[in-house]
Amino acid sequence: MAAVPHPTDGPDEAPLVEVRRSRRRRRTVAAYREDGKIVVLLPARFTRAEEKEWVATMLARLERSERRRRPSDAGLRRRAAELADRYLEGRADPLTVRWVPNQNSRWGSCTPSDRSIRLSTRLQGMPSWVIDYVLVHELAHLIETGHTPQFWAWVDRYPRAERAKGFLEGVAAASSLGIEADPPDCSPEGAAQMAADDL
Ligand SMILES: [Zn+2]
Repeated sequence: MAAVPHPTDGPDEAPLVEVRRSRRRRRTVAAYREDGKIVVLLPARFTRAEEKEWVATMLARLERSERRRRPSDAGLRRRAAELADRYLEGRADPLTVRWVPNQNSRWGSCTPSDRSIRLSTRLQGMPSWVIDYVLVHELAHLIETGHTPQFWAWVDRYPRAERAKGFLEGVAAASSLGIEADPPDCSPEGAAQMAADDL
């Protein structure tokens, strides 16, 4: 569940596509990833031209939905700003928000002194509401450094906070990665350590 490999990540690699036609399928078209390729399901009656058009449409759609689940650093930064506005009265204003691969025991971390936020690449591929939760958690640390009741009051403004904590707990348990369920810790010590690790 953690880091889902995406074999077609390379910019120049065209994805391997397998088209499956089904007689039972009348109008609906579907696409999903399976064993390193993309499967597109089409109704049997589709012409070659329709096939070509629908495969292109479905690949674009799949890519868009995957991009939403694995936003770029710029996308993450924008998302953080939206979440800060919506749930934290705009009080958290990070300078940098980015993905880092080297967070062995945290889902995310922040350094309040330079207002930087880092999210573990292990979150990529998880539902966007889970990523949003970790962002809100880190953003709230820019208002309140410790895990104080005030801190949790900010975090709990995010409606899916409890659900996301449960999700991450489940992932941590299943993956036995030793990742803390109550995820990121941004105590000043933790932040300093993270900043030092953060090459
Ligand atoms: Zn924390």
